[in-house]
Amino acid sequence: MSSVPVAVVTGSNKGIGFAIVRALCKQFPGDVYLTARDPGRGQEAVAKLQEEGLRALFHQLDIDDLQSIRVLRDFLKEKYGGLNVLVNNAGIAFKVRDTSPFAVQAEVTLKTNFFGTRNVCTELLPIMKPYGRVVNVSSMASSSALRGCSQELQKKFRSDTITEEELVELMTKFVEDTKKSVHEKEGWPNTAYGVSKIGVTVLSRIQARMLNEKRKGDHILLNACCPGWVRTDMAGPRATKSPDEGAETPVYLALLPSDADGPHGQFVSDKTVQTW
Ligand code: NAP
Repeated sequence: MSSVPVAVVTGSNKGIGFAIVRALCKQFPGDVYLTARDPGRGQEAVAKLQEEGLRALFHQLDIDDLQSIRVLRDFLKEKYGGLNVLVNNAGIAFKVRDTSPFAVQAEVTLKTNFFGTRNVCTELLPIMKPYGRVVNVSSMASSSALRGCSQELQKKFRSDTITEEELVELMTKFVEDTKKSVHEKEGWPNTAYGVSKIGVTVLSRIQARMLNEKRKGDHILLNACCPGWVRTDMAGPRATKSPDEGAETPVYLALLPSDADGPHGQFVSDKTVQTW
């Protein structure tokens, strides 16, 4: 078994994830795994970094596929005895011009952004090593969607005692409500992406609390963040930040020094803790 530290970035064949891998290759003292659901796109991305003189390793990972997540978990356990840095970056967003029914957009978006990310956490958090760092890439869209929720929902999402099961129930209810066209009446905002990212931010708050309760002595720090508005296939060419600039906050959180006791359980943008 290798004693080399190891970092994994989900959805990193392009966009912000790719830039996070590039930065980690330069700054992380260990093996950095670029992961992609499509091995061809993943290997191509690794080759691109190699041309820049950077060495990333590749492992397949489709966060929609529990089997794929478990294969990665077993590989990390066997080869490294665990994991030091996990960046949950993979995500999707329908284009504004997309004409798919809202209920379809809700189901598909929540499936990857919330349920897929949660499945990765469920499988990989137990193998995080002491002083591990976990970064869940959320979005400022989570804060604006939160403000668009009913007072009752806002209270639940801001609660310091909400459980993961309760959050899963709420995310499931959102998808069901869109199918019945009652989501607005039920207090939800009109954004599937925003609600999926509420899920990611609240999940991060819950997981950080669980780490405090169950693994206090392990000094693991877990946060959600917004990368900013970044020029990628998702956000388009008019966005204000380059992918490398978008990677800055996630990488800062991934590389928090071993003597840091925070941020933890926070939503961070531009390296600054935001009020949730
Ligand atoms: P992007 O260029 O579209 O890249 C998304 C990445 O996620 C791609 O590598 C994609 O792989 C991967 N992915 C999607 N579904 C996946 C799955 N089921 N399993 C594994 N990988 C999957 O988007 P981006 O702008 O870099 O976004 C990265 C993250 O930042 C997302 O979580 C996004 O919500 C968040 N974010 C972005 C912005 C922005 O302005 N760009 C702002 C706030 C937050 P494929 O190539 O196979 O599709």
